[in-house]
Amino acid sequence: MEENKTASLYIVATPIGNLSDMSQRAIDTLQEVAVIAAEDTRHSGHLLKHYSITTPTVSLHEHNEQQRSEVLLSRLQQGESIALISDAGTPLISDPGYRLVSLVRENDIPVVPVPGSCALIAALSASGLASDSFTFEGFLPPKQGARQQALQNLVAEMRTLIFYESPRRLQATLTDMVAVFGEERPACLAREITKLHETIKTKSLIDLLDWVNSDANQQRGECVLLVEGVKQQQDADEVEVNRVLTVLLTELPVKRAAAIASSLLNVSKNKAYDMALKLQQK
Ligand code: SAM
Repeated sequence: MEENKTASLYIVATPIGNLSDMSQRAIDTLQEVAVIAAEDTRHSGHLLKHYSITTPTVSLHEHNEQQRSEVLLSRLQQGESIALISDAGTPLISDPGYRLVSLVRENDIPVVPVPGSCALIAALSASGLASDSFTFEGFLPPKQGARQQALQNLVAEMRTLIFYESPRRLQATLTDMVAVFGEERPACLAREITKLHETIKTKSLIDLLDWVNSDANQQRGECVLLVEGVKQQQDADEVEVNRVLTVLLTELPVKRAAAIASSLLNVSKNKAYDMALKLQQK
């Protein structure tokens, strides 16, 4: 790096599919550092070759991050700058690097972001869903019970929800989302962003599920799922009452469940009773 510049750790974003999304600053940084820590050195080898970057690489993945971070810290302390990259997109976003960055910061060494592609931000920006406030949930649990529970915990969320998902679980996850958030909740499936088969569709959850079920091509490639948050506090409160009633109704009669929900939450006994009746008739 430039002379007299303090050794720094650079967090460098790389493309999520389209190599042209690599920034000039990312290329320069990777060329100039002493070493590149990469999630998978072989995978990143293609990208580095494409940009004729000859900097040596070392691996840093979830299984060696602890121990590798100590080694990288001592190299930084000796004055060598280091860049961290992951297989695609922004490191640390559902990717390794958190331990390294916190260790380096604890040791008062500068950590410098070199921003660029990130699948969740690309998907949100093109989804048409509210982007003023959102929550990124990463990957949902692979097992159905835990996944449904995680979705239940988000049922009254007013912010746009963003998830990464594997294509193998896409149908199962959409099915659970329909069950938990309801058929009509607007949602977006963003597949293969920046790649040849990029597809970004915003529809109701049930329409997305039908579409994915009827077209095997939609079950391939990398994807981001986004779900609109509930619209108003009133809706959020109602969703919460429904959630609590659903649990209570598994053990109690309608009247008792409604009375408990009413004393727990901000809802009248009559309203809770009507809602409990509706739930039981489903
Ligand atoms: N660090 C990356 C980022 O900045 O987006 C994410 C890494 S995470 C291990 C990989 C997941 O990101 C994929 O399973 C998929 O959910 C999402 N993803 C990555 N590239 C994508 C793309 N081109 N289109 C859609 N989703 C993508």
